[in-house]
Amino acid sequence: MKLTSAKIAELLAEKACEHNHKKDGDKKNKACKQQAQPGAAQGGCAFDGASIALVPITDVAHLVHGPIACAGNAWGSRGSLSSGSKLYKIGFTTDLSENDVIFGGEKKLYKAILEIKNRYQPAAVFVYSTCVTALIGDDLDAVCEAASTKVGIPVIPVQSPGFVGSKNLGNRIGGETLLDYVVGTAEPDYTTPYDINLIGEYNIAGEMWGVLPLFEKLGIRVLAKITGDSRYQEICTAHRAKLNVMICSKALINMARKMEEKYGIPYLEESFYGIDDMNRCLRNIAQKIGDADLQERTEQLIAEETAKLDEQLATYRARLKGKRVVLYTGGVKSWSIISAAKDLGMEVVATSTKKSTEEDKAKIKDLLGKDGIMLEKGNAAELLKVIDKTKADMLIAGGRNQYTALKAKIPFLDINQERHHPYSGYVGMVEMARELDEALYSPIWEQIRQPAPWELRIADD
Ligand code: SF4
Repeated sequence: MKLTSAKIAELLAEKACEHNHKKDGDKKNKACKQQAQPGAAQGGCAFDGASIALVPITDVAHLVHGPIACAGNAWGSRGSLSSGSKLYKIGFTTDLSENDVIFGGEKKLYKAILEIKNRYQPAAVFVYSTCVTALIGDDLDAVCEAASTKVGIPVIPVQSPGFVGSKNLGNRIGGETLLDYVVGTAEPDYTTPYDINLIGEYNIAGEMWGVLPLFEKLGIRVLAKITGDSRYQEICTAHRAKLNVMICSKALINMARKMEEKYGIPYLEESFYGIDDMNRCLRNIAQKIGDADLQERTEQLIAEETAKLDEQLATYRARLKGKRVVLYTGGVKSWSIISAAKDLGMEVVATSTKKSTEEDKAKIKDLLGKDGIMLEKGNAAELLKVIDKTKADMLIAGGRNQYTALKAKIPFLDINQERHHPYSGYVGMVEMARELDEALYSPIWEQIRQPAPWELRIADD
């Protein structure tokens, strides 16, 4: 893939993205085409985004061509789990020095690819460009092609210099790379009418493993997982699926749309969080596949699973009922977690809408009711104000907000990519209920809400 300015504009203005396709005339694509403001990549650069989308492919060596800090900053920051190869966990980098910047890093890159092949025998090598290697003009495509011929495995250039834009753009670059170099390069051993791909599910904390058994019970085969706990080969065969299911993320929407155009595979956008959403997801997949028997079996499975869940959740529901939550997360999660919290009898009093699309916001409004607060912007001070105003019992947010919760002396649950517990599917609901219960009823909160000894002394004086 050549990363020209036209390509970047095309990815930013992806027509299937909700941010674009509902706007007409002058406003169309305006937000996406805007020049990136300073600080736009604060939440992760394009290289970071591309590695988020691709590194969960477990049997591939992910080689970062650049200074060591690019690899170091991103390495291990997301908890995508693997049921097999652990190769994806190794942080490979060409570790460019000053000399390489002056004389070029192509030879070093070529040697690094050969060494990786000899020592680790990966299914493929993905080579990520970074700001420095893009600026000094290293020809990634040429080096990857020459190295691939030499080592006899795919060596794939990922054109992801951080300066081209944000993490979201990087996700799309990752998707384009798979479309250009991987999808459609091999045939599956066999196909069935029930083959689907999961797109945008990264198996954080093993979440996908809570859902795959449901598909198995229904006879639905997940042909390719894009990309959580996946193997290179399965993504090569993804073009033979009958349906693409995008999970909780619009990050790879370009992939779903282009696979529809190129291979005629329709796509759905679903969420695995909360009972209602999980039920809806299974129903929609069965309906889209269009098999009456499958639809019947799906209804049976939903009835069985929800009955079992009602039993497992009864104790938690009694203890969580009426607890007030401030939710601070992004995109689809800002409404899908509200739905999950409501299933447990909790009340979400405020949620962030910063990264949400218009469609997400409409769903949030519906779920929050008229008194719910929608936070367009957020920082620690804003969150503290909202927690105080709403008398919230707990904060559910990403890891970096845990200190805000501590300042407010309320419990905290990590919902973002650093989380250590899987919350998706029916089994995830039980896990989430358990975690919420443990956080809310921890004896520590009573202790830290007591006045400090020196405060008591001052009061006595
Ligand atoms: S790719 Fe660029 S922006 Fe991203 S970490 Fe490396 S130097 Fe920083």
